[in-house]
Amino acid sequence: MPVFRRPAFVLRHSSSMPSPRFTERNEGFVCLACGRDVPPHPSSSRDHCDRCLTSLHVDVNPGDRMNECGGKLSPIGLQTKGGKTKIAYQCEECGARVFNIVAPDDNAERIAELATMPW
Ligand SMILES: [Zn+2]
Ligand SMILES: [Zn+2]
Repeated sequence: MPVFRRPAFVLRHSSSMPSPRFTERNEGFVCLACGRDVPPHPSSSRDHCDRCLTSLHVDVNPGDRMNECGGKLSPIGLQTKGGKTKIAYQCEECGARVFNIVAPDDNAERIAELATMPW
């Protein structure tokens, strides 16, 4: 006869690994592509460089930092849908397509360039 076992606490492992990055989503960072010291987003979550628009493949859902890929996301074009403009990226590590919403202080020249790129 199997002995009745109490269910394990599902959250035990994750709660034993505190990570401030999960709660602090709007961080500045140093861009690995152009070296710019990117400041935090003025109103939302900073997820790409405002000068060269490069991002990192670190999120599964926006801001969760749960993706272990960590590959460089290079902008390949723009997507406008439902009034929102997003930058389209292709991950250089795993090849995934990722979209980030354009930030108000993004480099307008780079955005204009992307708008003309076929992808
Ligand atoms: Zn950059
Ligand atoms: Zn990736």
